[in-house]
Amino acid sequence: MARYLGPVCRLCRREGMKLFLKGDRCYTDKCAIEKRSYPPGVHGSGFRQKQSEFGNQLREKQKVKRIYGMLEKQFRRIFTEAARRRGMTGEKLLQLLESRLDNVVYRMGFASSRNEARQLVRHGHFQVNGHKANVPSMQLKVNDEIAVRERSRKIQQIKNAIEAARRKGTSGWIEIDPDNFKGKIVAEPKRDEITLPIQEQQIVELYSR
Ligand code: SF4
Repeated sequence: MARYLGPVCRLCRREGMKLFLKGDRCYTDKCAIEKRSYPPGVHGSGFRQKQSEFGNQLREKQKVKRIYGMLEKQFRRIFTEAARRRGMTGEKLLQLLESRLDNVVYRMGFASSRNEARQLVRHGHFQVNGHKANVPSMQLKVNDEIAVRERSRKIQQIKNAIEAARRKGTSGWIEIDPDNFKGKIVAEPKRDEITLPIQEQQIVELYSR
């Protein structure tokens, strides 16, 4: 599946906020947005036009795509699925994004960023309910168990991420057992548990135009 391969700190600067795309580095003073909080490009620090309603909606969509590391086609597909489901489309969209295997691996603390989680999943280091799972977009549901495969438990990258996650804590909809390299989804993620600065209604309005 295609994905963005360019410099990621530019994306945070474009959105004017930390999107936490680089793992531990994002929590240090090496974070690019701490030094240059204006958009990238030659006119980045200069005059900026006030944004239209459409512009704001577009930015909101871009921001969410970037946080979850998705391109337009994949994102549109997941939005269509959210719109098909019963309930608030914006909230369903965020639930579907949160329930992707790569995001859950990141939320459980087995990777320091969603990008890293995606790579580890692709390389076959995880299993879901006892079976090898290497598709980052796989949708998980309540009671699914995710574990680092036996042979992958020595990987330093995973060990470091687990140590960092112990300090940060996890979301309420998942339970983790870091000593045994596994975790479980115990509930659907609720809107107030997704603490990202997202105005999902703007995305719904954009796609409803
Ligand atoms: Fe964004 Fe992290 Fe780069 Fe900071 S270090 S600009 S939060 S990706």
